[in-house]
Amino acid sequence: MSILEVIEPATEQILASVERTTPEQLNDIIDRATDAQQIWAGKSPQYRGQVLLALAAEIDDNLEALARLEARNVGMPIGDARGAVAGVAATFRYYSAAPERLLGHTIPVDGGVDMTFREPIGVVGLITPWNFPLSIAAWKVAPALAAGNAVVLKPAELTPLTSLELGRLAVKAGLPEGLLNVVVGSGRTIGTQLVEHPRIGKVAFTGSTDVGKDIGRRAAESIKRVTLELGGKSPSLVFADADLDAAAEGLVGAVFGNAGQDCCARSRVFVQRPVLGKFLDKLQSVVDGMVVGNPLDESTHMGPLISASHAQSVQGYVDDAPVLFQGSAPSGPGFWFPPTVLHPVDDDHRSVREEIFGPVVSVLAFDDEDEAVTRANDTIYGLSGSIWTTDGARSLRIARRLAVGTLSVNSYTSVRITTPFGGFKQSGLGRELGPDALEAYTEVKNVFVNTLSS
Ligand code: NAP
Ligand code: MG
Repeated sequence: MSILEVIEPATEQILASVERTTPEQLNDIIDRATDAQQIWAGKSPQYRGQVLLALAAEIDDNLEALARLEARNVGMPIGDARGAVAGVAATFRYYSAAPERLLGHTIPVDGGVDMTFREPIGVVGLITPWNFPLSIAAWKVAPALAAGNAVVLKPAELTPLTSLELGRLAVKAGLPEGLLNVVVGSGRTIGTQLVEHPRIGKVAFTGSTDVGKDIGRRAAESIKRVTLELGGKSPSLVFADADLDAAAEGLVGAVFGNAGQDCCARSRVFVQRPVLGKFLDKLQSVVDGMVVGNPLDESTHMGPLISASHAQSVQGYVDDAPVLFQGSAPSGPGFWFPPTVLHPVDDDHRSVREEIFGPVVSVLAFDDEDEAVTRANDTIYGLSGSIWTTDGARSLRIARRLAVGTLSVNSYTSVRITTPFGGFKQSGLGRELGPDALEAYTEVKNVFVNTLSS
């Protein structure tokens, strides 16, 4: 038996010890999930919707405990964690309506009637990262179950605790035993086993682009369905006519939120040259006002990074980059890192090109619209972005030209439960959330019925 010790990043102490799933256990779990899926898909759409609604209610009933656990395991400020867990309940509520609304088409054809059905895939494998563990799990689990599948969820070893709780709450809410399974172990071991297992019909993965490529290659062996939500290096374009206060203050969440460990982090902020000085002054006072500390303290804006090795990696980007100013961070135990602003920095510097996944933002100056769009698009990524301007026509013109999947104007919003989320280029494949997510958990079946009289 192998025991995983889960560390609390704000204290470096052991938060919990959990048993790892063995390869034999994973095989058994997939066998049982196969049976559970048949039972689940055989229930009425209304029943399945009611059970998902009951799970949303369980999550709401346990909101504070789940939020504290997420805050401690991830290092996420408690206020953010409460918002995240409320979003998890809302995700299950949203998809509780889906079983009764999985509509197909009727298509005019010669000599009969033609109709399409959206069939479940079967047993799906879900692999999630450590930055928003329960939220990202819910974005996958809820549509997967709503579409009639069984689930094997593998959270990151650094942060398995709230996903394990979700598995317990699901049984309490009335999901059939074996339908939602949460397994514990590393990507190299059971992650790989899940991706290669012949009876897993689909893999939905959120994580780094490198691991996403590896999963795509392995899944290709059996033509498994794959959706990927990967890295980002998302731009924000701030024009001279923009509300500079909102554009600067919003970065507390948009690039320093979750200590920058956010795939949508606006880590490249392009500012039009006439307002560059003013913007940097505002950003400096925003950074000076940020409280970095204990995630359980209500006044904290930013907690620690997830691990010592990750803090070292973030430091590596800052070591050889021009730091204009930094905020403060606690000393002593905990993987702390201050909010950091880089400027002036070249577009080709690795801190501008690579995903740092820490509280580090590059501020870059631009002169005109074409130049801003070209430089913003000059990246392998295309997850999200923002446009700040009071010129409505310009905002739409640029929105159509930016090669990103999830865009906001005069806002840093990235994720809404009711709208699609995902990336262009090497930021991913497929969409999560909103109505689109259901497509990723179903197969289209076409049925033709001959109606000619004999
Ligand atoms: P990661 O190293 O890619 O790991 C993500 C998950 O995959 C973990 O559960 C990991 O397990 C597992 N894994 C690792 N190698 C695997 C393999 N060969 N086969 C199967 N599973 C494997 O990413 P991370 O370090 O946790 O998270 C940071 C990255 O995620 C960033 O690049 C970020 O941009 C991206 N991200 C993207 C989104 C989005 O929606 N686009 C959202 C959040 C994060 P273990 O860690 O337990 O070994
Ligand atoms: Mg990793």
